[in-house]
Amino acid sequence: MKYNFPVTRTTNPKPRPQDETKLGFARYFTDHMFVMDYDEGIGWHDGRVVPHAPIEIEPASCVLHYAQMMFEGMKAYRRPDGTIQLFRPDMNVKRMARTNERMCIPELPDDLLTAAVEAVINEDKDWIPTAPGTALYIRPFIFGDEVSFSVLPAKHYRFLIILSPTGSYYAANDGGLSTTRIYVQDEYIRAARGGTGYAKVGGNYGGGMRASQDAMKYNCKDVLWLDAQEHKYVEEIGTSNAFFKIGDEVITASLESGTILPGITRDSVIQLLKHWGVKVTERKLSIDEVIEASENGTLKEIFASGTAAVISPIGTLNYKGTDIPVANGKVGETAQKLYDTLYGIQTGTVEDFMGWTYPLNINK
Ligand SMILES: *Cc1c(COP(=O)(O)O)cnc(C)c1O
Repeated sequence: MKYNFPVTRTTNPKPRPQDETKLGFARYFTDHMFVMDYDEGIGWHDGRVVPHAPIEIEPASCVLHYAQMMFEGMKAYRRPDGTIQLFRPDMNVKRMARTNERMCIPELPDDLLTAAVEAVINEDKDWIPTAPGTALYIRPFIFGDEVSFSVLPAKHYRFLIILSPTGSYYAANDGGLSTTRIYVQDEYIRAARGGTGYAKVGGNYGGGMRASQDAMKYNCKDVLWLDAQEHKYVEEIGTSNAFFKIGDEVITASLESGTILPGITRDSVIQLLKHWGVKVTERKLSIDEVIEASENGTLKEIFASGTAAVISPIGTLNYKGTDIPVANGKVGETAQKLYDTLYGIQTGTVEDFMGWTYPLNINK
């Protein structure tokens, strides 16, 4: 192995969550984490695995004031034969590079992310849950921690990876799919052309919380974002990409505007649908077209895609205070088939006919 990260093992292992069906999303964290530093003139250095614990940060660190940071989200799964695998980590590496470039964060060597993930999971492999719908969520993130109030890229950064055994984000208790209510947000926006919409950064989320609060007033789980310019075209659902099945066409927003986060699940959904011969189109879709389709009975399904929930079917949209039903609120067959196939490939119960899995070099 090219990297040899030193390991400091915890002397105080935490009790494991007893009930794997009640993990929630990112409520528990494992015993270890990965840490690495960057200094101008030296580069990235001193990658290491240490006990998961609070970190010290100087209050004048630039990230706490100007939010120069990025993050990724991926999962590790234990196959029925006991081996451990990731799902398309090469895509996380590429996206991380694009986000870093946008945020003026120094680039990482291409093979570092996966090596670091492997090193920390090697210490916490017994934390990978196996109940239906569960996985080990992996959260890599980088932040600038130079002590400076000048609005310039930092000269010092920290890269951490923390791990959390999780259930699925929205799923029912048995790990299966259930539909959710989504609020169509026509006032606040998530991302504009030229902004940071395509990058995975905290600021996109901090700026979106006010909109999610509105959604809760209408008893909705999350928001459907519309485009920033005209408040007319559908973009994303909360922190997931959005798909609409109208007639026999599946539609999702194209990446061309730079306002859509290029989800790895999104790309996988598109590839699977094409593989199955389903017509899938990346184009502008107006909320009016969605409402019209609901009224004339051609709106077959809406679902969100993302690492956290995999596939999350939508049963109702609320737009300007009115409920718009989506196929009687039932889980659609496309969403169900995509979920079964993706989660099956990810966990090794369905043959990986797309070549998407990445086995980790960790003993069972
Ligand atoms: C992470 C994220 C997604 C989903 O990306 P995946 O790679 O599929 O997990 C979608 N939208 C936003 C805004 C995101 O941050």
